[in-house]
Amino acid sequence: MKLLKNRILKDGKSFDGGILKVDSFINHQMDPILMKSIGVEFVRRFGNMPINKVITIEASVIAPFIMLDYLLELPVVFVKKSKPKTMENMVTTQVYSFTKDVTYDVCVSSDFLKKDDTVVFIDDFLANGHAALGVKELVEKAGANLAGMGFIIEKSFQEGGKRLRELGVHVESLVRIKHLSKDNIEFEE
Ligand code: 5GP
Repeated sequence: MKLLKNRILKDGKSFDGGILKVDSFINHQMDPILMKSIGVEFVRRFGNMPINKVITIEASVIAPFIMLDYLLELPVVFVKKSKPKTMENMVTTQVYSFTKDVTYDVCVSSDFLKKDDTVVFIDDFLANGHAALGVKELVEKAGANLAGMGFIIEKSFQEGGKRLRELGVHVESLVRIKHLSKDNIEFEE
């Protein structure tokens, strides 16, 4: 996605250690025009699949998912990062956070992720795949069907994309970064 690549090169901040900050247009301040284009691109990639829900992890970047759900007229389900005492029929798993270096529980109610659901998972970054693998496990525990996983930015120098594809997951990444160091970002073709 050329628009996104150009924006990352213009406004992204890369750090040694493989971290990219996109706070000025995705994660902290959000550019609505770019978010709309991202939502439309996800629709192009997933819109012809027989999905009935979109899932994402709570507190992740919300706009593109809302846009995708809105365009496809589907509900969005948020996997929660804390276990609310009031949640009924809870399905849980553990996820390791790449950016925070902690392991935390994630959960979803099987009232909203059901056996006959076919879902697509959307997240901002794919790094080592911990979040995505956790969600895959949740979807399986709930008995639902995972049609695919979409990421705004895949860092292909990390293992997540390889792991997911080896497991047979349909992965769609809007841009793939093959090298990232301070002030240098290189994309896959
Ligand atoms: P993974 O679970 O694939 O190792 O990491 C994915 C999660 O970690 C994403 O949901 C994202 O929140 C965070 N993350 C991983 N790498 C980066 C990065 O380079 N920049 C930012 N802003 N978040 C990242």
